[in-house]
Amino acid sequence: MSDFSVAEAQACILKHVQRLGVETVALHDALGRVLAEDVAANRNHPPYDVSAMDGYALRFADIAHATADKPVRLCVVDDIRAGQMPQVLVEQGQAARIMTGAPTPAGVDTVIRVEDTAVDGDDVVILTPPQQGANIRPLGENLKIGRVVFQQNTMITPGVLAILAMVKKKQVSVFAKPTVAILSTGDELEGIDEPIDENKIPDANAHALYAQCKSLGIEATLLGIAKDDEQDLKAKLAQGLQYDVLLASGGVSVGHHDFVRPTLEALGMTMHFWRVAMRPGHPLAFGTSEQGGAIFGLPGNPVASMVCFEQFVAPALRQMMGQNKCFLRTIEARLSHDMKGSLGKTMFIRVTLSRDAQGYVATSTGAQGSGVLMSMALAEGLLAIPADKAGLKAGELASVQLLQNMDVQDAADVEI
Ligand code: AMP
Ligand code: MG
Repeated sequence: MSDFSVAEAQACILKHVQRLGVETVALHDALGRVLAEDVAANRNHPPYDVSAMDGYALRFADIAHATADKPVRLCVVDDIRAGQMPQVLVEQGQAARIMTGAPTPAGVDTVIRVEDTAVDGDDVVILTPPQQGANIRPLGENLKIGRVVFQQNTMITPGVLAILAMVKKKQVSVFAKPTVAILSTGDELEGIDEPIDENKIPDANAHALYAQCKSLGIEATLLGIAKDDEQDLKAKLAQGLQYDVLLASGGVSVGHHDFVRPTLEALGMTMHFWRVAMRPGHPLAFGTSEQGGAIFGLPGNPVASMVCFEQFVAPALRQMMGQNKCFLRTIEARLSHDMKGSLGKTMFIRVTLSRDAQGYVATSTGAQGSGVLMSMALAEGLLAIPADKAGLKAGELASVQLLQNMDVQDAADVEI
């Protein structure tokens, strides 16, 4: 079988991982989770027409022809504050002083801002009319009783959470989060709590994967480091298979001491593929157990492990947690310099992004070896060079996946 393309591997994974069950959590714990129910409004909001401004509620017909030369004078008959119901009907030639959020009285159809008026004794004087109907928020503008405000699968952001609070959803039904275990493999690896041994390689992957899970709201369990030894690997992989998802890094290539493949097969996993046509990340295994657990055998090289997490693991976790949108947002960017691809494989170049008058510009973060973790640490995006291209030239356009830290930028760059 020829290697899967990135898209084929993603499709295979999403076909094999199941959405998890449903649980109920307190409103504040629902942030970042995905709704497992449709939520309908149990009230109208606003509950009546309200003023959007501090000003005067009036009948538009009275002031339609007001000008600086022929101002209109209305008698102020009420003073309505937010939280108070109007006491008086506003009749022809009259107005009511009104505060933002206060209900508009019967008879009026327009509110004029206080800044656009002058006061003269008990009268308000108007020189320029606003639009008819201005500055009134109609009943139910935000929420209409009985209407579904959010459908199942909505991601709960702070704004969504605020609306759930308005409809008094103190308990929210959300999709469960997967349990995830992380295992590093390799005789050369040194754990973070071990003293420095110059002959060893510090374990980076466990911590990178832990952080990548955490950024999706998942607290993963670290299973430590397995030796390149069939017995140790078997014991630790078996432990990891108790979780919904096991992320094992290293030992998935074809080296003499790469035991992950035979061990997983011996443990009864159904392996769907072992390689993907991409760089970094060519060795990549995905399998499932009969109980519905998933295993990702990620490449040992730290950059490859992180890039593969974004392409394959994160979409699977998002789908398990009920999200409909599983992939990183992409933008188009122009290359600021030539970049090499890898014919037959999708190449992911780690880039920083800037903007100019024509749009986004991508620049490599430096040496792109799959062991050069700094290239990932500095990256704002992953620029994809398609498998049918040996490279792209400066000025050409490419698609760039935005990594997490693209959510913020310097004030100086903001164009609104
Ligand atoms: P492997 O896939 O096991 O052949 O490993 C490929 C390369 O990645 C080797 O240079 C390993 O030393 C390195 N490597 C494997 N696992 C880790 C890890 N957890 N942290 C840092 N480097 C690793
Ligand atoms: Mg190894």
